[in-house]
Amino acid sequence: MKPVIGITCDISGESGQLTLRRQYLDAVIKAGGIPVVLPPMQEIGLVSGCFSICQGFLLSGGGDLDPGYWGELPSPALGPISPVRDHFEIVLTRMALASGRPILGICRGIQVLNVAAGGTLFQDLQTGMSHQQNAPRNHLFHDIFIEKDSTLGRICHVSRMRVNSFHHQAVKQLAPGFIATAMSPDGVVEAIELDSGGFVVGVQWHPEDLEDFASRALFEALVISSRLQSSR
Ligand code: MN
Repeated sequence: MKPVIGITCDISGESGQLTLRRQYLDAVIKAGGIPVVLPPMQEIGLVSGCFSICQGFLLSGGGDLDPGYWGELPSPALGPISPVRDHFEIVLTRMALASGRPILGICRGIQVLNVAAGGTLFQDLQTGMSHQQNAPRNHLFHDIFIEKDSTLGRICHVSRMRVNSFHHQAVKQLAPGFIATAMSPDGVVEAIELDSGGFVVGVQWHPEDLEDFASRALFEALVISSRLQSSR
């Protein structure tokens, strides 16, 4: 039986319109999962309802997180934030972490994962190197160095690769229990994972826009782990 992968999405504050790029759904389908889009909701019963119907979770990309979640004042460089999305994703992620369900966090998703687990973020990177490419989404913009002896390293099979980059925030202080498994040349955390096993991985780039082996393998690892979850 194919596992159900819950994918979070964006909500416009003005119109309430939900948005999710089709590439996330296609990547899950290609990897053998059933994608289900989870709209941001406040009521705890609805969040736990979303949690209970999914075997695995994909936290998608999007805007900035409210720095109040890690006790910082908002920087003038902070972009638009969505309180309802922040709350929904953080509560859902904590439920998934508590139960050991597989999670793949992408871009904003690695940030949600880190904050939900007790870490912090840089609100606006100032490293002297750009992480916001002004180029097609599948353009490979900067290198990353991958920790070989990690879940990510075993999935990607390389110690260095080039990725796309669409972010100005990044992991600052790692959440307890997490390790950094990829870094960019300017020292920005580009991937994290739960150290205690299972598949809980966050990546700062957008593998759903790429066709290489490592990108496909990330979604396959999410789906395979989620299938094992459903047969427990
Ligand atoms: Mn980057």
